Amino acid sequence: MRPLYFDYASTTPVDGPVAEKMMAYLTRDGEFGNPASRSHILGWMAEEAVEDARNEVADLIQADSREIVWTSGATEANNLAIKGVAEGYAPAECHLITSATEHKAVLDPCNYLHAKGYPLSILKPDADGVISVQAVAAAITEHTRLVSIMAVNNETGVCNPIAEIGALCAAQGILFHVDAAQAIGKMPLDVDSAQISLLSMSAHKFYGPKGIGALYVRRRSPLDLVAQIHGGGHERGMRSGTLPTHQIVGIGAAAKILNAGFAEEAERISRLRDRLLNALVELGDVTINGGAAPRVPGHLNVCFHGVDGEALMLAVRNLALSTGSACTSASIEPSFVLKAMGLSDQAAHSSLRLSLGRFSTEADVDSAILSLTEAVNSLRTSASRNKRHQS
Ligand SMILES: *Cc1c(COP(=O)(O)O)cnc(C)c1O
Repeated sequence: MRPLYFDYASTTPVDGPVAEKMMAYLTRDGEFGNPASRSHILGWMAEEAVEDARNEVADLIQADSREIVWTSGATEANNLAIKGVAEGYAPAECHLITSATEHKAVLDPCNYLHAKGYPLSILKPDADGVISVQAVAAAITEHTRLVSIMAVNNETGVCNPIAEIGALCAAQGILFHVDAAQAIGKMPLDVDSAQISLLSMSAHKFYGPKGIGALYVRRRSPLDLVAQIHGGGHERGMRSGTLPTHQIVGIGAAAKILNAGFAEEAERISRLRDRLLNALVELGDVTINGGAAPRVPGHLNVCFHGVDGEALMLAVRNLALSTGSACTSASIEPSFVLKAMGLSDQAAHSSLRLSLGRFSTEADVDSAILSLTEAVNSLRTSASRNKRHQS
């Protein structure tokens, strides 16, 4: 039996009409041409499809289509943004600021640069997981060149004050990169009003295909990104490689659906999330990680105190969800995001992330409530029975 899906924050299914559109760009009877082929109509047709998609993706964030660079996803976009800025400077001249709650696709490139001599500040969030503009301001030095702060955290759904941080950076002439992988389609984004210099996104987080994303690169800023992939000079030299037409058509079609409006969808998902949240809080001894901060509609990160998250996940096999732990090759580590928010190892191990999306239904939510209620009660009963036996 396929589990009910509560893991939209990790990936989303490709929406039906998006997949259908992609199919028309693959086979011999479709538009399979190379968008870089200038000598025949098959190339021109593919190029037109790529540029239509570029317009849709630019519209998502109120950008100009000439500011969109195709990448393989948000990981590559983050690498291009961070290393692409930093490598334009001598290490000592380029101080980087990021936060402890970023995705590894931001933290790892920053740590990589740090090992090469770039000064790096990693900001701590408050207890609700928010990076304050004051924390950013306090970390700025005369050599700060780039601030990278995510719009929405992938584990908790907590939103950072992006517009305030953008204003601060702009006033000091510092570039501002935003990992917006979890924000697209969940909150309005405007790169001009938030004064964002670089923004990463990934199609598979908004009902498009895996393996395609984009980096927004502001044109009107003293910004000269150092390419990370060379060969052929595609994407104005910033990212070489034959453009994957079908993937780009996919991200464009997914963006077009969102550009038609997502307020109603967000409202519906938010109601479902709150139905789930209220029922789980009823269980008692439950806290919502990031619960007091502004959050996007679909995320719910719950700590069931006194219950082991791994055991709970095994007890609700009818649900596909994530734990507050990450399996490394060696062991199960508590989530570094929850730890940075001040949770104990035990509380992090007792946390689960449930994330809802476009295809979540009230019936799914009610099944989840039933399963989690049963599992939590039974795990708590056996835990207290064990404790009685021991004493
Ligand atoms: C999913 C995600 C990424 C990675 O995106 P890919 O396209 O899978 O490489 C980066 N940052 C955040 C916040 C994410 O949620």
